[in-house]
Amino acid sequence: MNYLKSEQLHSEALEHIVGGVNSPSRSFKAVGGGSPVAMERGKGAYFWDVDGNQYIDYLAAYGPIITGHAHPHITKAIVHAAENGVLYGTPTKHEVTFAKMLKEAMPAMEKVRFTNSGTEAVMTTIRVARAYTGRDKIIKFAGCYHGHSDLVLVAAGSGPATLGTPDSAGVTKKIASEVITVPFNDIEPFKEALDKWGDEIAGVLVEPIVGNFGIVEPLPGFLEEVNRLTHDAGALVIYDEVITAFRFMYGGAQDLLNVKPDLTAMGKIIGGGLPIGAYGGRVDIMETIAPLGPAYQAGTMAGNPASIQAGIACLEVLKQKGVYEELDRLGALLEKGILKSAADHNVTITINRLKGALTIYFSDQVIQNYDQAEATDGEIFAKFFKLMLEQGINLAPSKYEAWFLTTAHTEKDILQTLEAVDHAFGKL
Ligand code: PMP
Repeated sequence: MNYLKSEQLHSEALEHIVGGVNSPSRSFKAVGGGSPVAMERGKGAYFWDVDGNQYIDYLAAYGPIITGHAHPHITKAIVHAAENGVLYGTPTKHEVTFAKMLKEAMPAMEKVRFTNSGTEAVMTTIRVARAYTGRDKIIKFAGCYHGHSDLVLVAAGSGPATLGTPDSAGVTKKIASEVITVPFNDIEPFKEALDKWGDEIAGVLVEPIVGNFGIVEPLPGFLEEVNRLTHDAGALVIYDEVITAFRFMYGGAQDLLNVKPDLTAMGKIIGGGLPIGAYGGRVDIMETIAPLGPAYQAGTMAGNPASIQAGIACLEVLKQKGVYEELDRLGALLEKGILKSAADHNVTITINRLKGALTIYFSDQVIQNYDQAEATDGEIFAKFFKLMLEQGINLAPSKYEAWFLTTAHTEKDILQTLEAVDHAFGKL
């Protein structure tokens, strides 16, 4: 494949946009460098780049595009919104309809508020938890990403009994000292942290099914214990469902796993591809938010008619019968084929898959936490990534990301992808 125009565009972008990208994960830094491919058009499961190369897309824009690119029902809703004015700065009937849809999908969200991104949604749930409990600290799990607000850009210290250190320049040590990071899927360090700081903890922030060091499911009983211990400590449980809401089933991870948080943050899929975030939870907690209560959160673009109508249309597609069953069927086909090729070519991999989302780790270990994901082979991943790209398969340029199937992928796409995987494994 020839990437001449992508390369030219990247050189030009480097002169004007910092790092040439508007989100660091789009750069090819994690896969050995090079110019990221610039896409020009997407339709269904396919992408075309500026050089005219065609790809099957498994990036799905890091999750939101679960119905494929330019889905006609969603496109129609966006056009309708555009024709009627994209931003009013007043209440609209659509946002009420959409809030009702989200509540119906996740009844733990008794009241809802819309934001413009997952970052804002998570950031506000933390503020609300602090306002409600009158406490300052939060606990999060290592390797989970919760957006780029200060408080969640903090990594673990040297052990569970230490406070965090900033993971980004510009995040103060004081802020980091309000965050405790413990390993996912390991209840003992979590208990230790609560023993030490329990009465200072406002909330525990968790991706109920991890999407940010690959797809990692909670071990049986883990989330239930987190819930129980958090509540015993008088703190709130916050689920970050920015990736998982409407991903594996309509009711999100909380429905799939039958666990209920006090607060939920979401984003990605619920905007049908347009910018959005939302958070919600128990009425008494949500009533701490302005204009009812003392915790402030606002947004000029929040609940804008375009994002809301695209979101409604997206959920209408996902609500149809058999959507998640088909994602699961194709996901299983993909997983089985990849494992077979790996065995045929003696390539050591572990696959974590849940329905239409999977991660290939170049490792012979079971991957249940961040340390294990980190220890997997990034160099082989980088080679694999480039071999797939050259064959027209677009994956995320990071060993920590998932492949996302969409309702637009067909069995034919999966079989073509498996041929590419087989060829790539043969060359590793
Ligand atoms: N939470 C999770 C679990 C995420 O995966 C992300 C984004 N990848 C965010 C929050 C932040 O969302 P956004 O990029 O929309 O700000």
